[in-house]
Amino acid sequence: SALRELQTALSAPLFAGLPGDIAVSFEFFPPKTEKMEETLWDAIGTLAPLEPSFVSVTYGAGGSTRERTHNTVARIARETSIPAAAHLTCVEASREEVDAVARDYWEAGVRHIVALRGDAPDGPGTRFTPHPQGYENAAALVAGLKRIAPFEISVAAYPECHPDSASLEADLDNLRRKFDAGASRAITQFFFEPDTFFRFRDRAAAAGIDAEIVPGLMPVTSFAAVRRMCSLCGTAIPGWLADLFEGLDDHPAARQLVAATLAAELARRLYAGGVRHFHFYTLNRAELSYAICHLLGMRPGGSAASGAPSKGLAA
Ligand code: FAD
Repeated sequence: SALRELQTALSAPLFAGLPGDIAVSFEFFPPKTEKMEETLWDAIGTLAPLEPSFVSVTYGAGGSTRERTHNTVARIARETSIPAAAHLTCVEASREEVDAVARDYWEAGVRHIVALRGDAPDGPGTRFTPHPQGYENAAALVAGLKRIAPFEISVAAYPECHPDSASLEADLDNLRRKFDAGASRAITQFFFEPDTFFRFRDRAAAAGIDAEIVPGLMPVTSFAAVRRMCSLCGTAIPGWLADLFEGLDDHPAARQLVAATLAAELARRLYAGGVRHFHFYTLNRAELSYAICHLLGMRPGGSAASGAPSKGLAA
């Protein structure tokens, strides 16, 4: 039936009639400078009227952004009505240290944690060794967080398999352990082909995982940067993607338009396959994510695009 839905959607006029019955979440990184802080708050200001389900703030390698992540999440919780989620990793910290960070969040009114193992301090590709008194992986962290307070917990999932994992089956077992420990949602690593997500969702369902799996979308603004990220996290770059960005290095405006078109098309196909929650890796820029949400029928204040059924109605 996903195939039938997809065929119907693809034969419809381009982008017509998407009802905006979707939920979105936006991911930011904590700013390093005052200028970056301004950019971040501009982005939050632009995206807030779309009423995201939550926004999340990443945690730098080895806890390097502990303060900045905390300050950013706490400010979002204080100054906006958007539910704020804090990313938290196990890297180079004892259980007591991680628990103290989590308790601070609970006291600051933050109720949602994106619980991650994190990467080895020397970067992805090197073997992760847990801190001797630390949480050994994300599943252990989820269990630890649940002992502290009834946090809502999101975890990471890898449609193209995590580079440390022996097989996709082992990776799915790991994902199931994170849900069993108390996570309520997984957010995926970014990917470029809709089938990559659909295959993963099917395999997760076949493995008995019925919790929410939200696709993470990374609008490509710089192909060079995406190529670097993909080499670290194992996301495949389809040949057609490299071809599409060829020759655009000196054409930033055209690159933006191509990026928006690609990401919107990916989102549209995911929508046709039943996806109703999208997580955007915004890189602290609002425009692309905003444009894609607009093309999906979202309008400020929760209203749907005119002519479409109002938000909340099924497609
Ligand atoms: P885990 O789920 O613990 O596992 C990683 C891999 O190791 C799994 O594939 C699993 O198969 C294997 N594994 C784990 N435990 C076992 C076991 N007991 N036996 C066998 N195999 C095992 N990184 C940051 O530093 N900061 C962030 O803010 C951040 N945010 C992210 C947000 C999202 C949505 C995603 C998808 C990733 C994010 N990352 C972040 C990257 C993440 O930290 C890395 O991908 C890291 O290498 C794995 O983290 P994890 O939580 O998936 O680990």
